[in-house]
Amino acid sequence: MNPKLLLEDHGIAPKKSLGQNFLQDPNTLDKIVAAAELLPTDTVLEIGPGTGAMTTRLAKAAERVVAVEIDSRLEPVLRAALAAERLSNVSLLFADILQVNVASLMADPPYVVVANLPYYITSAILRHLLEARHRPRRLVLMVQLEVAERLTAAPGDMSLLTVSAQFYAKPQMIGRLKPSVFWPRPDVDSAVVRLDTYAAPPVDVPDVATFFKVVRAGFAQKRKQLKNAFAEGVGLSHADAAIMLELASIDPKRRAETLSLGEWAALARAFVTLR
Ligand code: SAM
Repeated sequence: MNPKLLLEDHGIAPKKSLGQNFLQDPNTLDKIVAAAELLPTDTVLEIGPGTGAMTTRLAKAAERVVAVEIDSRLEPVLRAALAAERLSNVSLLFADILQVNVASLMADPPYVVVANLPYYITSAILRHLLEARHRPRRLVLMVQLEVAERLTAAPGDMSLLTVSAQFYAKPQMIGRLKPSVFWPRPDVDSAVVRLDTYAAPPVDVPDVATFFKVVRAGFAQKRKQLKNAFAEGVGLSHADAAIMLELASIDPKRRAETLSLGEWAALARAFVTLR
């Protein structure tokens, strides 16, 4: 049912502060679920089920769905949607996903995340899921177009978000969505991305904490050339920062956004030999 009519029936007004833009186009919902390539044995974590339009589709394609929704006003809407289709394999949890211990909630990995994410906390949710002890096998996410472009960027346009996501997963742009597929319409364009997580990091790093210390230092001084960024960011002398770049075969005049994942890893390896 159309989300506008459904919510009106229940006397609920959408909250902009919670990123409540509901998908009203059945084809788009089908495409997102198809992109997840779910197996009948899969468990799915859905973040922000809203009125349940995607939840019911996921429940038909997977063995079990755990849906975490912050807005408890939506509970009767969700329960009615599940009852109408006689679906009994969905567990609803009314909580803030950022306060949920995902590793214990999804105790039997692997699992798949499918979410039409609230834009205001996309980066925080990504970190929460990718850094969790039990990482999902795959994530299919509807995000702001600009975020989708950053997640799938190549060297030249990389950001801290790009490196963080691509350290954990292989990203793929599934497609752009027009604002008209939502009600109410969001002010920005959206896109669907799929992230297939790696069992082990795709590059050779001394340890994850050191890798991200070096990456964060490089991006902290974005407009600076790398030799200056490292001298300030990881507590090396200018001379040692120059040696670190030389050991990693990286031109000291380059800027953070031009480096590949492999080059960041080479820098992290060089850093541990100097500290
Ligand atoms: N999945 C539905 C759909 O596709 O129509 C709704 C998507 S809407 C963009 C985002 C949903 O996330 C809303 O239902 C909102 O209440 C919920 N939400 C917002 N912040 C949340 C949080 N911190 N934890 C869990 N759910 C949240």
